Amino acid sequence: MPPLMHGTLPLTARLEPWMKNLVEDPQLCKDLLSEYGSPLNVHDYSAMGRNIAQLRDAAAGQGVDFQVYLARKANKTLGAIDKAMAEGCGVDVASFHELEQCLQRGVSPESLIVTAAVKSRALLQRAVEHHVVLSLDNTDEALQLLEMAKPGGKSVPVALRLASGSPQIPPTRFGLSTQTWLDFFAELDHPEAISVTGVHFHLNGYSGEQRAVVLQEALEFADALGQLGHPVKFVDMGGGIPMSYLDDSNQWNGFWQALAELPEGDESLTWKSDRLGATGPQPSTALYPYHQQLIRGPWLEQILAACSSDGTQSIAQMLRARGIQLRCEPGRSLLDGCGLTLTEVAFTKQRSDGVSLVGLHMNRTQCRSAGADFLVDPILVTGAGRHAQGRSPYSGFLVGAYCIEEEVILRRRFEFPQGVSKGDIIAFPNTGGYLMHIIESASHQLPLAKNVRLEGSQAVLDDIDQIGAGLG
Ligand SMILES: *Cc1c(COP(=O)(O)O)cnc(C)c1O
Repeated sequence: MPPLMHGTLPLTARLEPWMKNLVEDPQLCKDLLSEYGSPLNVHDYSAMGRNIAQLRDAAAGQGVDFQVYLARKANKTLGAIDKAMAEGCGVDVASFHELEQCLQRGVSPESLIVTAAVKSRALLQRAVEHHVVLSLDNTDEALQLLEMAKPGGKSVPVALRLASGSPQIPPTRFGLSTQTWLDFFAELDHPEAISVTGVHFHLNGYSGEQRAVVLQEALEFADALGQLGHPVKFVDMGGGIPMSYLDDSNQWNGFWQALAELPEGDESLTWKSDRLGATGPQPSTALYPYHQQLIRGPWLEQILAACSSDGTQSIAQMLRARGIQLRCEPGRSLLDGCGLTLTEVAFTKQRSDGVSLVGLHMNRTQCRSAGADFLVDPILVTGAGRHAQGRSPYSGFLVGAYCIEEEVILRRRFEFPQGVSKGDIIAFPNTGGYLMHIIESASHQLPLAKNVRLEGSQAVLDDIDQIGAGLG
């Protein structure tokens, strides 16, 4: 059966079995929305186990000691933490409340790392109290920590965030160069107050080659720290581990090709003929690459097998020779397959110039990451709206609740071969990593979307929605 909704140029989502079951059960979708409101973030974390196993198998295949830390900022639910814990993973936290909630949830301090870009005094304090590793970004932060560390007390475990000096790596605001850190530690009066147990970096983008380059740099940095009396136990390569939302690379490349050939002002593919940042037929770099060739396991294998710059050994050999544990902090690629967003159609109408619109009970911060668009086709759940009779094919754009002219939920045009109407339900697949939470806002005093975990046909409200209101 052809889909009831697809992009004018389709970008077909890869679905987990639980997602298929849900969208094939219109009554359940309807019940969930009437109980929790629209939109609703639905989770099933079972895919996280598979995603973790793919990474672990790749590391084990090359004899590398390895640990995974879920980057919590990609999804705020406490259910995601529970699942990471159950799989024996740690959690990477980016704020005081992220840390506090993990500790209260029972994550052991040694399974946590604080990587916040800017760290409040309260965050530093809590990490010190619980002996949680802090990834230090700069020397002001390091000095503040030294002041807080109790004289004669336990030394504070830290990782140093490395800003690569390699010409192959674009400039970064995060971390400091090897030399800056080494100079800083060489001149410290009481270096014993801090113990450097790790080297940390996180690169923009998804390049395996770049990660191999910086891993080597990090291991050489670890050698130098060892000579200063800081035996490094781990190198943490951060996140950015690739995943694919789409199975079909032809759809992905074809979409950009068609967009490049679209005449100015033609809205047959995108709202106001938006090229989404592309200047030619290549996918725009301003957006997530929704289809990628190498993901998770095979991607990691390639990094570990990469040769050091002098060609004498692989990254895996360098790690093994030093007895250093490799850590990573995937967010998006661990949550691949773990979430879906349901929403209800509020209206259909025509724009003043006749372009067709579908209004949704949601706003655009509720299905978007930092990129300009989410390039995955939503699914029209049947049977929920008006009767199928009398509906005619429809083609238009999804608009949302914010009182802004540019408030479109997705930038692409969508086709509804059997129509669409008020009361229908639309599902956005695979939104668990970033698409639900990273920029969600409660502007206009519209409430944030609720978060539930599915257990069969039972939904359980995530605890984040109980404590969320009490942050302060
Ligand atoms: C955002 C972030 C991550 C997670 O990145 P993904 O692309 O979701 O894998 C990991 N580590 C740090 C330090 C980050 O800032």
